[in-house]
Amino acid sequence: MQIEPQAFDRVLSSMCTEPHPVAREAAERFLATNPGDPGTYPAISALEDEAIERLGEIAGLADPAGYVTSGGTEANIQAVRIARERAEMATPTVVMPESGHFSFQKAATLLGVDLQLVPTDDDHRADLDAVRACADDDTALLVGVAGTTEYGRVDPIPELGDIAQSVDAMLHVDAAWGGFVLPFTDHDWNFDHASVDTMAIDPHKMGQAAVPAGGLLVQEDTLLDELAVDTPYLESTSQATLTGTRSGAGVASAVAAMDELWPAGYREQYTRSQANAEWLADALTARGYDVVTPELPLVAADVPAATFEALRDAGWRISRTGTDDLRIVCMPHVTRKMLEAFVADLDDLGGQPGTAGTETSPRPAESGPAGANLNSTPHSGGSETDQSRTCRNGSTPGSAGDSSSD
Ligand SMILES: *Cc1c(COP(=O)(O)O)cnc(C)c1O
Repeated sequence: MQIEPQAFDRVLSSMCTEPHPVAREAAERFLATNPGDPGTYPAISALEDEAIERLGEIAGLADPAGYVTSGGTEANIQAVRIARERAEMATPTVVMPESGHFSFQKAATLLGVDLQLVPTDDDHRADLDAVRACADDDTALLVGVAGTTEYGRVDPIPELGDIAQSVDAMLHVDAAWGGFVLPFTDHDWNFDHASVDTMAIDPHKMGQAAVPAGGLLVQEDTLLDELAVDTPYLESTSQATLTGTRSGAGVASAVAAMDELWPAGYREQYTRSQANAEWLADALTARGYDVVTPELPLVAADVPAATFEALRDAGWRISRTGTDDLRIVCMPHVTRKMLEAFVADLDDLGGQPGTAGTETSPRPAESGPAGANLNSTPHSGGSETDQSRTCRNGSTPGSAGDSSSD
């Protein structure tokens, strides 16, 4: 018996989605190509150049350089690697809001850098005073998130760029999820808006490409030299990617999706997804749940654990944030009809909203990057009291909850 992949009709937890038909078709056609060996596979290599051109256009980078990664994780790891290679201190630090993605913990562990987590403010954005207090001469990289995994928030990217410059650090923007919706908002998030050095922006999330298609963009191509190694047995002579052989399917599907959808198709999708998120937020608010206002197409709400479990048992794929909020990502496959069915099930299954009528307020930071364990370790390096209050060591792999299912 042939096993079929899951349907998307009850998937509300994922940051991936059904690929656009043109992306699916392109992925199939280029399945057996390897952009990791551009000398031997020139057609897919040319398509990768096109993908980077397109990503640059989306992210406000006139002369873009980068490559199509396996996803946001690889792009983030590589950005940290670039910063580490550029840095001259013995143990470089990476300063990131606690809303940052858990892939930076992998980066810190792999690369031997010290990950410092700073708190977010009342609206789940990087707290700039805390970032200022935490960033110092040992800081090689600041991370800002443009579309956080848990709440869809956009950090103050221009201000983070200024802080980075003041301590001679680089700025990486993680727009892995947000990069394909932010162009249609008023947010300052890209290379054109701020002094951004590197960025993660993933076609396989809101870009509607097939997995695996992430993106690493760098401000100037010399930054890629920090990653390059010699490749004696290939037709090409050096390689900047983390993986060796990689799928041309993701590359080709990313180009096909962007050709088809940038910008009008993505704008329409953003408008539809955002309207769905706002509809769901209103529906949940009307039922007495505390809802975090969706700034991008992602809704978080305080739903009791028993209700959450009942919805799961009814077949809904849903996830929770590190502070146990229900989290629903309004991806392209998520229709109004699906959300209406979800709310109808909630009405049937839901108990009393636990905190009905109380003020929406962020709970104390009891969890780390997208659900990881923060465990309140004070800053290990410095003696300033300021730092121990604002920075926490996040390098230890924590107990990631199911908040980050993507
Ligand atoms: C999804 C996500 C990632 C990780 O991307 P993968 O493609 O799963 O490796 C990184 N950062 C953010 C903000 C994300 O939402």
